This record gives sequence, structure tokens and C-alpha cells, in this order.
Amino acid sequence: MAWFKKTRRPIARTGKAKASRVPEGLWVKCPGCSQAIYNKDLASNLNVCPKCAHHFRVSATERLKMLLDGDWIEHDVSLASTDPLNFTDTKAYKARLKASKAATGLKDAVIVVSGELDGLPVIVASMEFDFIGGSMGVVVGEKITRGIERALAERRAMIIVCASAGARMMEGALSLMQMAKICGALARLDRARLPFIAILTDPTTGGVTASFAMLGDLNIAEPKALIGFAGPRVIEQTIRQKLPEGFQRSELLLEKGMLDLVVDRRELKAAVAQALRFMTCAPAARPNLDIGSSVHSGIDSASAPITE
Ligand SMILES: [Zn+2]
Repeated sequence: MAWFKKTRRPIARTGKAKASRVPEGLWVKCPGCSQAIYNKDLASNLNVCPKCAHHFRVSATERLKMLLDGDWIEHDVSLASTDPLNFTDTKAYKARLKASKAATGLKDAVIVVSGELDGLPVIVASMEFDFIGGSMGVVVGEKITRGIERALAERRAMIIVCASAGARMMEGALSLMQMAKICGALARLDRARLPFIAILTDPTTGGVTASFAMLGDLNIAEPKALIGFAGPRVIEQTIRQKLPEGFQRSELLLEKGMLDLVVDRRELKAAVAQALRFMTCAPAARPNLDIGSSVHSGIDSASAPITE
């Protein structure tokens, strides 16, 4: 027997548990490198991890702020789904719509605006993943189509920022028809020789990939974005094979020729502007943008004899 015996008791809590000193939401854990990032640092870095460049998902509105110069005009704000099939799965579709509207402040999963990107007139359709998985129903299809028609009428370039789980099953075949409708409008845009750039973000899947997301004059993706038609789990179960590393991610798709570019979000606006200038033969917004003052004087002195 021991000399002394001490019964172990758990440390007793006195009074109320001490509240955490870190307010909720001030730090974010990066899924890429598991490091804690200060929320403000993340926001100032366009929601890209400063340590490992992991691209966090961003909302449709934040996306517009990143791409456009200043204010924009939003179109077809009032369009909303009427639940044409009176659909119910685990939850009534009407209830899903209501919850998504409350959570995002939007009436459906896309915002279509006209504005300027580095001085170039554009129409941008930006998809909101938080609205029923960015799924494409009748409203999304109609708003994007009207956006393309507006681009045609006003001779603007069209940009669609994709973030979607695919067609909206709660609207059945009606949602599938949007694929053909948008593609038809894009064909008219193509005939009018106006550029269309598809920006594929994490995730772009299903009917969106199978239609307009892959029809860009340029298909640009963000790093490590999940892009595909059926999800990897479904494919694995169907073909009964283990899928390779990086399957359905931007980098592999670029290697296989499915994409034209993979661009870091922090360079995305500049890349899109450069591509649009190339396609529309528009002059640079500010000539000698990246040329230092010393080179300026060099050009001036060189051109001087010619003008005299
Ligand atoms: Zn990270």
C-alpha cells in the first residue's frame, strides 16, 4: 500500500467559464497550410492565403469589387423563381429559396451588371455559390442570357464568373433548358465578334461546366479550383478505379488542354484586361503603364528628331 493516497479530482471551475479573448471570426484557419490568418490580412489579400496562396471562396459581390473599376449598374434585380414544379425534396423548394434569399440578400444565384474593367466596357455575370450551391435555374439562365443580349446591343465584352454545382434539380428540365439558351446567346455574341471570357472558380461543375463555362474565347481558372461535370466520388464509384492526384483541379485540366490559363486571383483583373485589349484591339488605358520615368524621357528624346 502506498504511503499516502491522493484522490485525483478534476480541476474545479469557479463560477462562469472565462470567455475567450479572441473574438469569433477574427482569425481564420487556412485549409491549405493549416496556419491561422488574421481576417483583415486575408481580406486585404483578396481572400488568398498570404502564406500558401490558398484561394478562399468569395461571394458574387466581392468578385465584382475585385474585377470592376468602381460602381456598376445591376440588371434584372427583381427576377425571382416562382417554383414552377412545386418541388419538395428533403425540404420545400420555396423554403430553400426563402432561406437563401435571407442568407445572401440576393433573389437568385447570379448578379449581372454592366461596368468598366480597367476602363473597358463590360457586362459581368457573377455567380453566388451560397445561393443553393450557385445552381442554375430559370432565373440564372434568363439573367445571364439577358446580360449577353445587353452585351450584344451595347457592344460590350461579356465575362461570366462561374461558381456552381450545376443545374438546379428543383426546376427539373426547365433548368436544363438554360444551358441551350445561354449557349445560343453566346453563339450570337461570337458572330458579332464580341469577346466572352469565362472565369472558372472553385467549384464549377455539372450543367454549368457542360455549357457556358467551357465556351469562353478564353477559359481562365483560379488555382486548384474543382472543375468537372460529375463529382470525383461519382466517377470513382462508376469506373471503380482510384482517381489520380489533382483530378478535376485547374492545373491538371490546363495540362490536358481543357483550360487556357490558370491565374492567381491577385493577377486576375490585369490578365482579363490584357486579354480583352488583345481581343478588341483597344488601346491601353494608360500608355507606358509599367515603364519608369527614365524610359519616358528616353522615348521622348528619341521621337523628337522625327517630329522636327
Ligand atoms: Zn494557407
